[in-house]
Amino acid sequence: MTKLIYQNTFLYVAFLTLSLIACGQNKESKKPQNQDTSAVTIFKTPDEWKKILNKDQFGVLRNKETEAPYTGKLLYNKEHGVYKCAGCGSELFTDDMKFDSHCGWPSFDKEIEGGKIKKIEDNSHGMHRTEIVCAKCGGHLGHLFDDGPTSTGMRYCVNSLSLNFEKTEKVVQQQYDTITLGGGCYWCVEAIYEMLDGVKSVESGFSGGKVANPSYREVCMGTTGHAEVVQIVYDNKKTSLDEILKVFFTVHDPTTLNRQGADVGEQYRSVILYRNAAQQKTATDIINQLNKEKVYDEPVVTAVQPFKVFYKAEDDHQDYYNANKSNGYCKMVIQPKIEKFEKLFKDRLKKN
Ligand SMILES: [Zn+2]
Repeated sequence: MTKLIYQNTFLYVAFLTLSLIACGQNKESKKPQNQDTSAVTIFKTPDEWKKILNKDQFGVLRNKETEAPYTGKLLYNKEHGVYKCAGCGSELFTDDMKFDSHCGWPSFDKEIEGGKIKKIEDNSHGMHRTEIVCAKCGGHLGHLFDDGPTSTGMRYCVNSLSLNFEKTEKVVQQQYDTITLGGGCYWCVEAIYEMLDGVKSVESGFSGGKVANPSYREVCMGTTGHAEVVQIVYDNKKTSLDEILKVFFTVHDPTTLNRQGADVGEQYRSVILYRNAAQQKTATDIINQLNKEKVYDEPVVTAVQPFKVFYKAEDDHQDYYNANKSNGYCKMVIQPKIEKFEKLFKDRLKKN
């Protein structure tokens, strides 16, 4: 038992450490990202450009003019989408790179990677500046300054006339998601998730097998192919699949094939039944991390499989722990797991 507690504390610390490393890698370099010097690939004569650009666009893109400050149509644009070169359509910036610089022109703190913007020394007008042009068509965009207020320190000051904006519908994460998990006896797992803040509902049942509408007795016989599972509906504003899986890997042993403690059989297997590619990725990422960090002495055997169907268990199996606290199995097996969960996730318990 001492070993188990140590193991789970280590698991928790390992997760914290991983999060910190990940944050550290987000820091942006102060240098411009691309110093691409590849040649312009789109050539047109001035007359040809005039056919596809209006007079104002031609003046800025081809003659390096500057639009009057506070006149550009994209200055205050905050919609989600991509900013493209108005001359050739090359994708240069996305909405999350734009910030309000109060300089009168649309400003960006970084560019889409890939050498799409070329930097040229510009000593015109008695100033020393860095001109930015579209690498593909050579169109003048504006200038690049190193006085940006964000972590990149850069300010791409761009004429609205040099850009076309293409709106994209931002994928809005839905508030509630569902995940189905098998971690041994569902009475234990259900009781724990009932306590986690952000969990809307938990149901005990069966999944992953071949028999339709199985009873608890049938599943116990180990011939249905089903695992005892819990189906969790969670609120993405209050918790996440990441947290739900951290709890999962803390309160059951994912290294014993078809067994949890004294419960032996395929129905007690460790399994994550995902509903989409994002859930699949989150699950496999965590398992890979656990194995890489050697959080457990043995490799994780948790199966990651697509969800097909969930059969809810009989009513007297729902909320079993809370209804049967004095029962021997509850006292011996479930209560220690709950105490461990309460200790490690004490800030994340429902407050009611
Ligand atoms: Zn271009």
